[in-house]
Amino acid sequence: MTPATSTARGLDGQFVRGLTAQLRATSGSTFDEWSPLTGRLLATIPLSSADDVDAAIAVARGFQPRWARVPAAERAGCLLRLHDLLLDNQDGLLDLVCAESGKARMDAYVELVHLALTARYYGRRARRQLRARRARGVVPGLTRVDVNRVPKGVIGLITPWNYPLTMALCDGIAALAAGNAVVHKPDSQTVLSALAGIALLRAAGVPAEAWQVVAAPGPEVGPRLVAGCDMIAFTGSTATGRQLATATAGRLTSITAELGGKNPLIVLDDADLDAAAAGAVRACFDNAGQLCVHIERIYADARVYDGFRERFVAAVRQLVVAPGLGWDCQVGTLISADQLAKVDDHVSDARAKGATVVCGGRPRPDLAPWCYEPTVLEGVTAAMRCHLDETFGPVVSLYRFDGEDEAVALANEGDRGLNASIWTTDHARGRRLARRLRAGTVNINEGYAAALASIDAPMGGMGASGLGRRQGAEGLLRFTEAQTVATQRLLPLDLGPHSLLAGGDVRRAVRLLDRGLRALRTAGRP
Ligand code: NAP
Repeated sequence: MTPATSTARGLDGQFVRGLTAQLRATSGSTFDEWSPLTGRLLATIPLSSADDVDAAIAVARGFQPRWARVPAAERAGCLLRLHDLLLDNQDGLLDLVCAESGKARMDAYVELVHLALTARYYGRRARRQLRARRARGVVPGLTRVDVNRVPKGVIGLITPWNYPLTMALCDGIAALAAGNAVVHKPDSQTVLSALAGIALLRAAGVPAEAWQVVAAPGPEVGPRLVAGCDMIAFTGSTATGRQLATATAGRLTSITAELGGKNPLIVLDDADLDAAAAGAVRACFDNAGQLCVHIERIYADARVYDGFRERFVAAVRQLVVAPGLGWDCQVGTLISADQLAKVDDHVSDARAKGATVVCGGRPRPDLAPWCYEPTVLEGVTAAMRCHLDETFGPVVSLYRFDGEDEAVALANEGDRGLNASIWTTDHARGRRLARRLRAGTVNINEGYAAALASIDAPMGGMGASGLGRRQGAEGLLRFTEAQTVATQRLLPLDLGPHSLLAGGDVRRAVRLLDRGLRALRTAGRP
């Protein structure tokens, strides 16, 4: 099924019915999605019940062994076809993502590209990454050891609204490539973008039974997913991640959790200030700041602070905030009234406690109901909520530092550790500093995009920013169990009195084994 073109003002009813037909939803109830571009009703979505979740899990569980027997190359072929379908259907997809999330068209295109890169990467690499490997046996030559990668089974996938297309699919396609089935619950605000991606996945050859999808509020269906699935792959807030980690711990179910950040950017004294200012603007305001790896704290060396500040603030003032479907928009709107309230609360709190609003600092209902201006703050202190709590909006605070040690100490403040950025003309210096930062990704002379788009490398958070990694071999192998198969040949591993080693005296076997262990240690063997 190919997504039809949508409009900002409302979606064609037949188009919505075509997409929502993929849902398992028998409750007879519905819920509404509201357009962030107009504040009006965008679509009505059938509501899944907890029983629908159980039924989806049962279908996925029944089908998964068949899917796991499909050769890895064939499963990977579906991902490569998805790559092409994404590019072929991009106009309709971008319209839909913009209409549902309110983001700028370029931000929607970037997420389509991220998903295409991920599909191509696992389409090409999964087979090799999943191949069984030989490990050294305890008695080389006599003990053969194979390590297999066995799919976990049924993956419960819970995804957020901020990148409603790529976050909906990028983890799940890795799970599929590894031979798992998926039961997916997208965010209730952006169900249709997820369904449009799933329609392309089905068109690419993935059977509907392998990717089941339900739509309902997370707190209602989350416990059923935790109870019925073999693993939870969650992307969303740290608060929900903690709840899910607690629930899965009780059942010894595995979980990966991609959570929130409070990401720092460091401008060193030798940075190219024009490049740093331009890069920092992208890193702070792409996707209107609703991006887990975006920058909310900028630390500039006192020796270059004024030069950086002048360039950065001038560039922020030039940003075109124009929510809509066109390419002219650089910064779109926030997605909801709740999101606007949180951003406004952080800025009002900072202002009330003495921070300076250098630019921005106001809602823009004249542009879209929940739109907020790109905002730069100075004088932010530890007493203010925006200091270390994630704002998840177009708001950044500027701070000075004196020397690398202070930069590291400031950047490492707080409990998050998702992404960090360093600007310097000395790349080796940047890489040395990166090792001292507590962050799952560090971008040098980029804000976040270099690491995010390098799909061959793992991506994820330290501390309260997450558990596990997406992307790279790690992002695939997390959906598997390592299974060791050891085959003993010719001689058994027998130390008993009648064994060859003991010859009737077990103490002789122990002495020989001791001697062997010491010899291997001296020979430097592992
Ligand atoms: P959220 O409230 O945690 O929601 C995320 C998803 O979890 C939604 O599908 C939501 O469903 C569901 N959910 C909510 N409560 C649940 C529960 N008790 N059990 C099961 N599922 C539940 O997150 P958000 O605040 O909307 O999303 C923004 C956050 O996501 C930010 O903190 C951002 O940094 C983070 N994020 C992280 C990454 C990353 O890769 N590290 C990427 C993107 C976003 P409903 O909304 O339908 O109830």
